[in-house]
Amino acid sequence: MSTVVVLAGGSGGAKLARGMLDVAGSDLVVVANTADDVELYGAHVSPDPDLCVFWLADRIDARGWGLDGDTFHVMDALRELGVDVWFNLGDRDLAIGLERSRRLADGERLTEALAALTTALGVRARVLPMTDDVVRTRVHAGGRWWPFQEFMICHRGQGPVEGVAFDGIDGAVAPSEALDAVARARAIVIGPSNPVVSVRPILDVPGFTEALCASPAPVVAVSPVVGGKVVKGPTEAFMAWAGFGLDAAGTAGYYGDVLDGIVTDETAGGLALPALRTDTLMSDAPARARVARETLDFALALT
Ligand code: GDP
Repeated sequence: MSTVVVLAGGSGGAKLARGMLDVAGSDLVVVANTADDVELYGAHVSPDPDLCVFWLADRIDARGWGLDGDTFHVMDALRELGVDVWFNLGDRDLAIGLERSRRLADGERLTEALAALTTALGVRARVLPMTDDVVRTRVHAGGRWWPFQEFMICHRGQGPVEGVAFDGIDGAVAPSEALDAVARARAIVIGPSNPVVSVRPILDVPGFTEALCASPAPVVAVSPVVGGKVVKGPTEAFMAWAGFGLDAAGTAGYYGDVLDGIVTDETAGGLALPALRTDTLMSDAPARARVARETLDFALALT
């Protein structure tokens, strides 16, 4: 059975994955960034994979993160006890992280713990971590290094970005499930996530980019730039640090030889690789399915 692989970080990649579920059904395999993971309140919190699962289960809350209709009683109680609750987590979201911690402590791989979550939430597609090993992003900004979530929340994701490190990446191993999915793919899509901190960790897991290049499947990216701007988050500051512009050419340049094509809403020429020009804003379900369908058709036409 051939797969459609989507590489995803948070919001942009997760929305594309949800659209791709309509198009590819159970052939969909999402490989998600785990370098944003964080241990909090005794729970293993895995923001990007969980966001993908919540989107795929149609359980994402309207605020854009967390489970639909979740409550925050545990955070309120922790505050009452004097705990500095800098990272807000819903009660059910916390339960997911606690259960994941228990499974990991029992010797399960992150891949297995995530599979248990996707099954429990009734998701037909697979969501795989980029690695079962511990990789953590740090960001240098404002004259100091921050663990990624502290950069995003305590430093409010403020640039300029002066450095990025993925601790543990050199010794990380991609799960065999992810490598198999890539080898058997009919198309591989890099979702419109932050290229530098959401997608680069996936590509930098030793052997993963080589697996992408060895796969007969075309690799296409959906640009995370919409109408010349970022929809959400600090992508611009990270692209600036990496030395690339905030446009399709910058995105294509950043990914380099990995890409066979790019999907973008920009009409300007000057791209050195095949491009599909279409509206890439995924603000509702029909738009998500349309962008996914057009992206898959574009990729398959490149083979
Ligand atoms: P985060 O972890 O939630 O910040 O999310 P990501 O790393 O997945 O992505 C942030 C990027 O997703 C930003 O560059 C956004 O511009 C992009 N993005 C979010 N929604 C959309 C969308 O509907 N279409 C496109 N093309 N990009 C999007």
